[in-house]
Amino acid sequence: MTAFALDPEDVAWCAELRTLTAAQLRPLAEKGEPGRINRPLVAALGELGLLRRLFPEGGTVRALDLCLLRESLAQECTEAETALALQGLGAYPVLQSGTDAQRARWLPEVTAGRAVAAFALSEPGAGSDAAALTLAAEPDRTGAGDGWRLTGEKCWISNAPEADFATVFARTGEAPGARGVTAFLVPADRPGLSGEHLDMLSPHPIGTLVLDGVPVTRADVLGAPGHGFGVAMRTLNLFRPSVGAFAVGMARAALDAALAHAATRTAFGGPLKDLQSVSHRLADLATRIEAARLLVYAAAAAYDAGAPDIAKRAAMAKLLATETAQEAVDAAVQIHGARALRRGHLLEHLYREVRAPRIYEGATEVQRTIIARELYR
Ligand SMILES: Cc1cc2nc3c(=O)[nH]c(=O)nc-3n(C[C@H](O)[C@H](O)[C@H](O)COP(=O)(O)OP(=O)(O)OC[C@H]3O[C@@H](n4cnc5c(N)ncnc54)[C@H](O)[C@@H]3O)c2cc1C
Repeated sequence: MTAFALDPEDVAWCAELRTLTAAQLRPLAEKGEPGRINRPLVAALGELGLLRRLFPEGGTVRALDLCLLRESLAQECTEAETALALQGLGAYPVLQSGTDAQRARWLPEVTAGRAVAAFALSEPGAGSDAAALTLAAEPDRTGAGDGWRLTGEKCWISNAPEADFATVFARTGEAPGARGVTAFLVPADRPGLSGEHLDMLSPHPIGTLVLDGVPVTRADVLGAPGHGFGVAMRTLNLFRPSVGAFAVGMARAALDAALAHAATRTAFGGPLKDLQSVSHRLADLATRIEAARLLVYAAAAAYDAGAPDIAKRAAMAKLLATETAQEAVDAAVQIHGARALRRGHLLEHLYREVRAPRIYEGATEVQRTIIARELYR
């Protein structure tokens, strides 16, 4: 990738991904139960090799690949995009910080689309301020005596409570705040683990995880005790630009729909696109989406190059892309008129889907705080 354009191979790959998504993934997404994990869809992501591309065998994850996957899938099917992204978010801590045994147990299953992963950081009392989490890991004196019992609640956890395993961040208390947190890999069959589904504006497999004395041992720790917050932050550093890519994909889908509609819908003796207020709105949107797209690619390329200013770039990319996508979808609805609000219309779907990315993985305001902090560093 140069500063301003993708390599021809990446452009061709994106076109291929869109075709594949429309032909093979969208039909599976349409058959899924809203708000529940769609296992046939996750399995297809594995069979088509898309999860493998996310986590290449023996190699490091390429942030740009993650972004291109998310943008291309989102253009055709947001459910497929989300299923792919959640596998990545839930399993990346294992790839990044897991032992050989943890990786061997879970990563082949995740990349084949047979095991579903979750990333459990947020709590009812700790969202943006994740370091305030209170889920307790108390030393367990029973058994071999090298373990903990996890007690507390996680909230807004994608793929919970059905996921096959979750990375759970808990307070082991080595130090106050972020330095007293440990990441644990908790398989779904551990005693004391339960949870319930949460019904959201846009159907999304999401729920709570309730831990009532769940036993974990040293073998379940991801990384080192007391270093779990770093596991979470390194995961979010990789994923933040890609949330922007998801948003760009939705924005491009909305713009394409608006362009097509404005070219064919007639009013006052001509197509809508001949009204200057409509065509200028489309021109502004296309410009802003292009700017967001390039900022996302630049942040991903900076991550892949190990650039020192990735925190600022990732925050800028997520901020601009998610806010632009909201604006693009809203404008596309306006250009369509009433038909866009009819249940089942693409834009009715996108109007609901586009809202959450401005909140999760760091709300817009949190991204501004990160950018400002980096500007004064
Ligand atoms: C669809 C969806 C999926 C999710 N999936 C997951 C998941 O898989 N795993 C997981 O752990 N979590 C997940 N979350 C939770 C998400 O990460 C939190 O919602 C997010 O961190 C914000 O926390 P909160 O909702 O508690 O809002 P709060 O922290 O209460 O913040 C509310 C608002 O206050 C403002 N605010 C907060 N802090 C600041 C600040 N420093 N400066 C300025 N303004 C501020 C912002 O406007 C913010 O939106 C998901 C959320 C959604 C909606």
